[in-house]
This record gives sequence, structure tokens and C-alpha cells, in this order.
Amino acid sequence: MTSPCSCKVVLFDLDGTLFDHHHSLACAISAVRDGWPGLSTYSLDHLVDRYNAALQEAYDMYLRKEIAYEDTNALKVKLFFTLLGLTKPSQDEIIQFRALYKPAYRSSRRGTPGAVETLIRLRELGYRLAIVTNGQIDDQNDKAQDIGVHHLVDRIVTSEEAGRPKPDPSIFQLALEGFGTLPDEAFIVGDSVESDIRGGLDAGLKTILYTPSAQDSQRLLFGVQVPVIRHMSELLGYVDVAETHTTAPSVLA
Ligand SMILES: [Mg+2]
Repeated sequence: MTSPCSCKVVLFDLDGTLFDHHHSLACAISAVRDGWPGLSTYSLDHLVDRYNAALQEAYDMYLRKEIAYEDTNALKVKLFFTLLGLTKPSQDEIIQFRALYKPAYRSSRRGTPGAVETLIRLRELGYRLAIVTNGQIDDQNDKAQDIGVHHLVDRIVTSEEAGRPKPDPSIFQLALEGFGTLPDEAFIVGDSVESDIRGGLDAGLKTILYTPSAQDSQRLLFGVQVPVIRHMSELLGYVDVAETHTTAPSVLA
């Protein structure tokens, strides 16, 4: 057991927080719509919304261990067609769909606005950083590499490694053990009220909700006033920048 250190820690969710999932999803569904005549009558927004719902449902089933990870992609496509009221796709159609979707999703991967710059600034200020994410180790490492944040964090903790997905507090505790830090010295920043905020609060962390479309700057969640940020750079106003900064050598001294 590592003894607690005085370091400040910020944990980040990956999908939809550091990684601009919505952008990749829109690019991928746009590619599918272009190559699939039966989908051209639907608006892109509607298709993105339906696919996101299918994706979430399939992924939740995987996290509940109701389906194998290898089966999630086919299930997402089946659920997507079901949600649109279309005939269930054949195996060949699922393969065609994936052949359009996957390259467009991967090639459009990018960080959310300000994410890379904010991680760099936090590192300059002495923060230790980690990604805490539900998902497969290889997938999430690749994604972090692709969006340019892998080298900026000290570690990536996935639900595959932790054995349980967020919001289970054990995944956050596993990340903190790596730093030997106390929960009340650590923040979790995430876009999911359920996985990141509820899970983070249960683990005793300070929580910050990332919602680009938010109209509010704080929200009462699970009995706690949680700061809400719309741009990742706003994070610097909430973490203890002033206190940390005074511990750094000053060029004016
Ligand atoms: Mg997320």
C-alpha cells in the first residue's frame, strides 16, 4: 500500500470528455448514410441520435456481461435498424455497415476543444493526471494515442483492468492507489452524470460535469452542487490552480 502523497490529481473520463465521441459518431453515420440508399431519407441528426441510443444499449449489455465484447458491434447495427423501424439487417448487411462506419469513425478521432491544452497546463502546474474509462484496454489506449493525450496522462485505468465498470467506486480507487493520493485531493471530470458524477461522489472525489451544451454553471446532483463546464479550459478555474501555482518556483523571486 502506497502512503498518501501531497500531489493533486485530476482523473478524466475518455469518451465524450477528452475524446470527441460525438464528432466521430457524426462522421461515421454520415459515411454510412452516403453509402446506404435506404438511409438517405433520414436526417443526419436523427440517425446519429438513433445510433447513439443503440450504441449505449449494446454497451450497457456488455458492461452487465449479458453479451461478449466481440458481439457488441453487430448488436449496435441490429438495434439501430430496429430503432429506425427497419427490417433486421442480414449478416452481410452488418458487415457492409461496419465497412462504412469503422474507417470514418477512426479517421475522424479528435480531442474535445481545449482538452490537449488543458492537460498540458495542468501538468505544468504539477498535477498528476489519469484517464478512468469504461472499455477495453487496447481500444482506449489506441483512442488516447490518436487524440494526442496518451503521453500527457500518468496512467489509463479501464473497466477491463478494474473488473467492474463505472460507476462502481473500485475503478476510481484503483486509479488513486496508483498515485497513493487521498480521494479528497482528487477530481473526476466526466460527461456522464451516472458513471462519472455518481461514481466519483461514491468514491469520495470532487466532481466536475463536462457538458458542452449546458446553460448552467453548476447542478444539484445526488445532493451535491457539482460545477458544470462547457469547455475544457474552464476546468482551470475550478481546480486549485492558485494554491498549486504558489508551490512552483517563481521567476520573479
Ligand atoms: Mg463519457
